[in-house]
This record gives sequence, structure tokens and C-alpha cells, in this order.
Amino acid sequence: MTSRRLLDRLAMRRAERENTSAVRRRRVVQSRDGVIVSVDGRDLLSFCSNDYLGLSQHADVLEAMNKAAARFGTGSTGSPLISGHFIEHAAFEQEIARWLGYERAVLFSSGYQANLAIMQALLDDGDVCVQDKLNHACLLDGVRLCGATLKRYQHLDSGGAARQLKAIDGHSVAMLATESVFSMDGDLAPLNELAYHAQVNEALLVIDEAHSIGLMGPDGRGATVAAGLSSQEAPILIIPLGKAFGGHGAVVVGNEVLIGAIIETARPYLFSTAPSPAMAAAMRVSLRIIHEQPWRRAKLNALITRYRRGAQQLGIPVLESATSIQPVLLGDNDTALTTAKVLEDKGFFVSAVRHPTVPAGKARLRITLSALHQEQDIDRLLDALAQTIKIDAQPIRPLSENYF
Ligand SMILES: *Cc1c(COP(=O)(O)O)cnc(C)c1O
Repeated sequence: MTSRRLLDRLAMRRAERENTSAVRRRRVVQSRDGVIVSVDGRDLLSFCSNDYLGLSQHADVLEAMNKAAARFGTGSTGSPLISGHFIEHAAFEQEIARWLGYERAVLFSSGYQANLAIMQALLDDGDVCVQDKLNHACLLDGVRLCGATLKRYQHLDSGGAARQLKAIDGHSVAMLATESVFSMDGDLAPLNELAYHAQVNEALLVIDEAHSIGLMGPDGRGATVAAGLSSQEAPILIIPLGKAFGGHGAVVVGNEVLIGAIIETARPYLFSTAPSPAMAAAMRVSLRIIHEQPWRRAKLNALITRYRRGAQQLGIPVLESATSIQPVLLGDNDTALTTAKVLEDKGFFVSAVRHPTVPAGKARLRITLSALHQEQDIDRLLDALAQTIKIDAQPIRPLSENYF
């Protein structure tokens, strides 16, 4: 029996979503070959995947996955503390901790779960978590789960973070959490300043490296390493594997005490089946390729530069992003949806991102570039964008070279 009250409420909300172009529909991908995806029977050139380095269909990654599945099975058979922690998980945790220069790592089935686990294991009622306003939903949701108080500061405003941290009373534990590269804007958090304010205010700095791991810094070790921060200054990193690693799951790295507490007490860890050993085996190979094939990063960076230069010449608006995330801000939901549809008719798969993923009134195309794209793919997209979006007649502000 479904209550009338619930049905009424759902119908009302659904109508609201219809009226505001906020309805979300999943698209079924029938097949995929790199950046070419088949959707509704049509081959489209994709600019919306997070497979930034093209590892998710890499032959060696697939082979490792298949071999491990043959040896261990498809599933892990249990929670990591019961029967689900296999030799492949343990090896991958060790390898990624060593690669990043941290004492210990713990592997989760998703980044969402990892962030919930960190907050739940480390914060109590009465503690405070200070966050950038544009942090990913799972960083915000984690605070709800642990019962701590969430305080937010304006996007990238390290002074605002400092004020929030100073206001915390001395009996609470304080955490400062940020993404390094922001998932919807592609811009970079002021990591050195945040680390400084965390240190002087005795707050635990937590950095989500989803969109920089494998892509930035020496050996692709991410934005934190690129900023020169040590494991003391940046005690916890979250490394989601669904982006440049081309798989799924996430690793959290930190010292023995922090990671030990998460493994032993985080409910999202204890009460969930471990990721498949085959995925861990695949991710070990992704890590090796990230290390051994810097040309993937170099190629991606050249494509990013090409996109930004071309966009500037054509008057296509760009944000201050030097990363593979190159959003085109359009404003209202309708414009974003219509633009994505027109682009699809021209053969491109591009996602329209709307509230609540981004603030209301800031709907956009979230264009993502991959090392699998070719220069002519970028040029074709730019031409299509120039034909599709309304280009402002305003003079174009030159971009600072830093952002290429
Ligand atoms: C994708 C993402 C996550 C979530 O990771 P999943 O493995 O997809 O659950 C967490 N944080 C950020 C910043 C992300 O972009």
C-alpha cells in the first residue's frame, strides 16, 4: 500500500521538475569504442565521459580484470572485514599508498561511499566540517551522516575558510574539506593557503582528488603533490577511480591512525560488500600505465590548450579551467537542454548539467576532454558550438597564459 500523501507529493514534485526543465533521463549506451558511443542507435562523439586518459578500455587493464575474475570470481563475497578483502585489494592499496607517499590506503566501492566513511569515522556530533560551497554532493552528505555541523565558504575563498575555522570552539574537532579540481567548473582550489589555515587552526585537511589524479603533478600524482604539500600537511586524500583510472571505486590514503580508524569503524565500509577483486587487479594496471605513459597527460594537455585557444578565437565562453573539464555556462535549464539536443543532432554527446548538480541559474554544458580525442575532434566540436550557442558580441577578454 502506497500512501496517498506520498503519491501526491511525488506527483507534485514531478510536475515541478517538468515545469522547470529539471527532469533527468538516463540515456542507454549500447556500445562504446573510446570516445565513440552508440546511443539510441546512433554513433556520437562523446565529450561527457570522465575517462580522461582512455584507460577504461585499455587492453592491459581489461586483461588484468579478466584474469582476476577467472581466478577469484566476479564478486568479493563479503564485506572487507569478513571475507571480501583479497590479495588484489591489499596489493593495490599498498601500491597506491607508496606511489602517493602515504602510510596506508583503503579501497572503497565508490568515491561517494569513501567520503561518507571518512566523515562518519572521524567526526562526531558537535564537530565541525568547513567546506567550499561548490564541493561535491558526497562531501556535503558525509557531514549529514556523521551529525557534525557543516560550515561553508564562498567558492575558492581561503580567507572565508580561515574565518570559519577560527570561529570553531576549542572543544570540537575541525575538518576542512575541499576538492582539488572542482568537478563542474574545472578550477583549482587554493591548496597551499587552505593547508596553511588548516595547520594554524588545527583542522584536518581532506582533499578530494577526483579530477586531478593521474592528470596533474609529477607522475600524475595529483594536485596536492603538485602543490608541494606533504602527507603531514595534507593528511587525507580521496582518490576516486572512476575518472582517470578508468574503473570504479575509490582509495583513501592517510596515516596508520586515520586509515585504521576508517577501516575499523566507518559504517559505509563495514556494512558494504568489498569491490570486486577483478576491479582491484584492473586498477593496479591503470596505476602502472599512469606511471609509465606520461604521453597520455601530455596529449590531453595539448588538446585542452587547443580547445581553449579555439574557443577564444570563436568567442565561445570558457571558465578559468586548465583541466579536462571545460564547461560552457549557459544559465537556464532550458537553454542548456536545448543546446545539448542540437549538438546531439550534429553528432555529439554532451551533457547538460543543471541544478542541484550546479547552482540554480548556472546550467551548463559540461564538456570533458580525453586523451582519446584527436585534434580534429576538438575542432569539430568547436565549430558545432560556434554554430549552436549564442555568442556574445562583447569583446573577448584575453585569457591569462596560466590557464593554458
Ligand atoms: C565523481 C566524484 C566523486 C564520487 O566518486 P564515485 O566513485 O563516482 O562515487 C567524489 N568526489 C568528486 C569530486 C567526484 O567528482
